[in-house]
Amino acid sequence: MRLSFIRIKLLIITIPIFALVGCSGAFKTNKEPPKIDYSLVNQAYFEYPQDLLVPEITSKKIDSFKEALTGKKIFIDPGHGGADRRNKSRNGALVEADVNLRVAIFLKEFCESAGAQVKLSREVDSTVELLTRPILAEEFGADIFISVHHNASPDPTDFWTNFTSTYYHAKPGSYKYEPFAHELARFVQRDLAYAMMNSGGLGSFDGTYSDYRIYPGDGFAVLRESKIPSILIECSFHTNRMEEIRLASGEFNRIQAWGIFKGIGKFFSVNRPIISLVKDESKLVNGTLNLGFQIESTEEIDPFSIKTFFDSTFVNHEFNQSNSIITFSVSDIEKGEHVIKVQCANKSGNSSEPFEKKILTN
Ligand SMILES: [Zn+2]
Repeated sequence: MRLSFIRIKLLIITIPIFALVGCSGAFKTNKEPPKIDYSLVNQAYFEYPQDLLVPEITSKKIDSFKEALTGKKIFIDPGHGGADRRNKSRNGALVEADVNLRVAIFLKEFCESAGAQVKLSREVDSTVELLTRPILAEEFGADIFISVHHNASPDPTDFWTNFTSTYYHAKPGSYKYEPFAHELARFVQRDLAYAMMNSGGLGSFDGTYSDYRIYPGDGFAVLRESKIPSILIECSFHTNRMEEIRLASGEFNRIQAWGIFKGIGKFFSVNRPIISLVKDESKLVNGTLNLGFQIESTEEIDPFSIKTFFDSTFVNHEFNQSNSIITFSVSDIEKGEHVIKVQCANKSGNSSEPFEKKILTN
């Protein structure tokens, strides 16, 4: 066992205090955060995941994801860097940008060892503009975009808050929301939080959060501007006095990457419904457009998961369970370019890949 007594003490102290901070702030203190002793970095403040402890087991685990990950293109975005090194731990010794990069490089190694192609938004401490990052991912032809960050408490006297959270773009019910990306967030969050032995915070049941929670209606720029399924991970709080010590350890950063990697591997290992457009996509009959979509799935489709949109507006549909065909009609539409979007999931809750398509009616 490599779990130190300090770690156990931390868990006991942190959880009840954090539960109360949000409502009253009565437990806040004006005391200065304790000085961090970096000689402690070489001590173990974490428990090693068993499947990362024994090299043979690690190799087997990596091999088990090869079928799902071979050929997949993964874009990893270590947040900040270069001109943006503002986010620092309480004593200024730990820079968020550096921790993000270390985790990202380990994650790249794991993903590549399982057959994925990986590109990083930066491989060193360099400046990459925020809006350039999703463009680089698109140019790479990435399947998914993973932005790696670490969190900070806005309260300078708070040195206890700590949890792991993963953000997806938009909110269920909004047009921009993609269940596929939310599911990626869930898979990554579960394995990352488990590897780090952190909770997912008290603002969400599973540790995944909409980015509208931070910027209502807009979300995070990198997620909003991305054209592929994207998530942003806030691995933990570098402003937590004990987390800061763990995050300074490359060994621990590798454990973090292992958690994210397993989440990605499992996400790509499940069966998903595949949607294709089967009915005339262009011809208007008396101003009405009739569309049909075939769903291929090894598992039964959850009819309540189906959402259909026309020009960003939710429209009603019909679903024939026996032949797995979704149909919908829209009336009084004009000739020209329109956008259709369909979402569905199987009864295990695994979503279809994003299906959004431009059509030209005549
Ligand atoms: Zn950040």
